Amino acid sequence: VNPTVGIIGGGQLGRYLCEAAGPLGIRTVVMTPSRDDPAAPFADELVKGALDDLAAARSLVARVDVVTFEIESVGTGVLEFLARETAAGRVAVRPDPRILLLLQNKATQKRWLVEQELPTAPFRPFADAQGVRGAVESGHLPMPFVQKAQTGGYDGRGVHIVRNRAGMDDLLQGPCLVEDFVAHVAEIAVLVARGVDGELAVYDPVALRFEPEQHVLDEARSPAELADDLASRCRAIGARTVERLGGVGVFALELFLQADGALLVNEISPRVHNSGHLTIDACETSQFAQHLRAVAGLALGPVTQTAPAVMRNLLWRTGPGPATAVPAQVANSSARVYWYGKTDGRPWRKMGHLTALGPTVAAARAEADAACNSVLSLTRGACG
Ligand code: ADP
Repeated sequence: VNPTVGIIGGGQLGRYLCEAAGPLGIRTVVMTPSRDDPAAPFADELVKGALDDLAAARSLVARVDVVTFEIESVGTGVLEFLARETAAGRVAVRPDPRILLLLQNKATQKRWLVEQELPTAPFRPFADAQGVRGAVESGHLPMPFVQKAQTGGYDGRGVHIVRNRAGMDDLLQGPCLVEDFVAHVAEIAVLVARGVDGELAVYDPVALRFEPEQHVLDEARSPAELADDLASRCRAIGARTVERLGGVGVFALELFLQADGALLVNEISPRVHNSGHLTIDACETSQFAQHLRAVAGLALGPVTQTAPAVMRNLLWRTGPGPATAVPAQVANSSARVYWYGKTDGRPWRKMGHLTALGPTVAAARAEADAACNSVLSLTRGACG
């Protein structure tokens, strides 16, 4: 009999983990603050609690065989508690909570990449915006540069590109790092699954497109149409990174491709990822089923892609407001629409996504375009 899996975090990633669990014979217990969170209705059981709620974490551990995560910003106290519980043999925690402690802070993540001689943009940590200002004023920090919050950033919140003096007016507050602005010709994601016994499965690299002002993911497409040697270098960096971490589960790497062919690691996520949503429709094993297989100690599934695919995020486009769901299938497109069940829209919030398949990436994109337009009109311009 397969283990019961506890999932910390109740967003859309948790929702699709829960959906993938049923067919695998896995029970899920989700720990999240509210019954209204996207994963809550899909979990077999709910433990109400925030990501730093130690009592909730205790209650979760008592109910499950394996604990995993759908988000990295879990409280330090909770991660330390989980590390003690797993050391005492009371529960398995996969991936290891120490990996989350390492990666949830962008400064410690970057320092680790440098130590491991994995390629990444040069960076400097700062205690606050004042430090950044001082470095600019003394001529030690040339523009353009990118300022990032050390913790808590997501979907482009916590990333600030400073191109000129005007950009200095809205520096991010609090502990941050500054890294070189990387001129890149593409952003690529690679998803790597690693099992308890070290078995690896690496998905085909996915090409990413970001919303230019907000830096939030807008589109993912696969195949990424990369030269074979480049695709294998992406896979190799992904595999090496997850092996060095000793990670178990699905991990996502975001990479910058520079004009000279160099690859730099932008970010490692110790979890399923937005760039992997198209695996639900386009791959033999979705990232969600794969993650559960890995953390439950099952053999990994095949990662073969069965059709070219384009995924679009459905982002909230207007001011705050109540959200209305749209049908899973829109009239003029074969794309499938996934709506996360979030009841309130906020600017640039991810409300859902859609995935279109086709004989070619171009054909899939045309379907995705048609479907996005339908969603925009069905939501009267609020979301698309
Ligand atoms: P988040 O944690 O919000 O995902 P990221 O570090 O992935 O933040 O940055 C979001 C986006 O901002 C990236 O995908 C990229 O488009 C842009 N970006 C981030 N760092 C750099 C950089 N050093 N140079 C150029 N663009 C960057």
